[in-house]
Amino acid sequence: MENRKRYNSLDNYFKNTFGEKIYKVSLDGGFTCPNRDGTLSTKGCIFCSERGSGDFAGSRGKSINDQIEEQLKLIERKFPTGKVIAYFQNFTNTYGDVEYLRKIYYEALSHPRVMGLAIATRPDCLQDEIIDLLDEINKKHFLWVELGLQTINEEVAKIINRQYPLSTYIEATEKLNSKNIKFVTHIIIGLPHEKEDDPLNTAIFSEKCGTWGVKIHLLHIIKNTRLEEFYNNNEIKIQKKEEYVKKTVKILENLSYNIVIHRLTGDGNKETLISPLWSLNKRDVLNSIEKELKNQNIYQGDGHKSWE
Ligand code: SF4
Repeated sequence: MENRKRYNSLDNYFKNTFGEKIYKVSLDGGFTCPNRDGTLSTKGCIFCSERGSGDFAGSRGKSINDQIEEQLKLIERKFPTGKVIAYFQNFTNTYGDVEYLRKIYYEALSHPRVMGLAIATRPDCLQDEIIDLLDEINKKHFLWVELGLQTINEEVAKIINRQYPLSTYIEATEKLNSKNIKFVTHIIIGLPHEKEDDPLNTAIFSEKCGTWGVKIHLLHIIKNTRLEEFYNNNEIKIQKKEEYVKKTVKILENLSYNIVIHRLTGDGNKETLISPLWSLNKRDVLNSIEKELKNQNIYQGDGHKSWE
């Protein structure tokens, strides 16, 4: 127990599973999103940035191989030789012709330093032929899929213009589970009109649906998003760091230790972030969460039994 980490971070998972540190390189596969191109809506989720919530990804327009090289250069000093996960991050990375998806996924996998894929998408963009492709890849390579759920509160989902009901998330998780494809669920803390326990209930729900991991984000108000209008009209309560830490710790306490924690705060871009500015000091946010876990002597999963 002494050396056990307070929570099961992705880093922890990689070291325990592969015996080494593994980085992710973020790629832009040139996609758009049905919530932006007019198929479902032209407005997108209210928090979505101009780059489709992938502000640090490789350069759109460059080949996948060139983007991997470009991203590897950025981490060259701290990570000159190890393996990486190719992370298709921007917009909806299964929203395209299946042959195009096959081409870019396998292009990434053919890079000698890429040991697996992470694919971020919407649960309504996992048609059967795409699931078949993911199944094929999953049988030969390390793979996870990321689903932008954000909340199980249907009213809040409408306010943020998510454009799919909770039942669509459930169906997607059933398809992924049936093929043993790991998935990660994105959860945002601080959405407009959310109830105090919504983030916790969303996390618990995702575990019940079989999520392998969670990404916990703090709601960022970014320039040129629809959320900026909410902010300018004083329609949104800006979270204090203490509140965010408290809610995050509660989630960790209640999720089983098997759930891999991919993220505990957002990656703010200082050029575009309007609020909350305290989130730019990511190290401080993570330290505050660790400190709170220590103060309360909480390990991930300590409260897990309470909802079984
Ligand atoms: S689903 Fe993703 S890419 Fe599409 S609008 Fe929402 S956040 Fe942006």
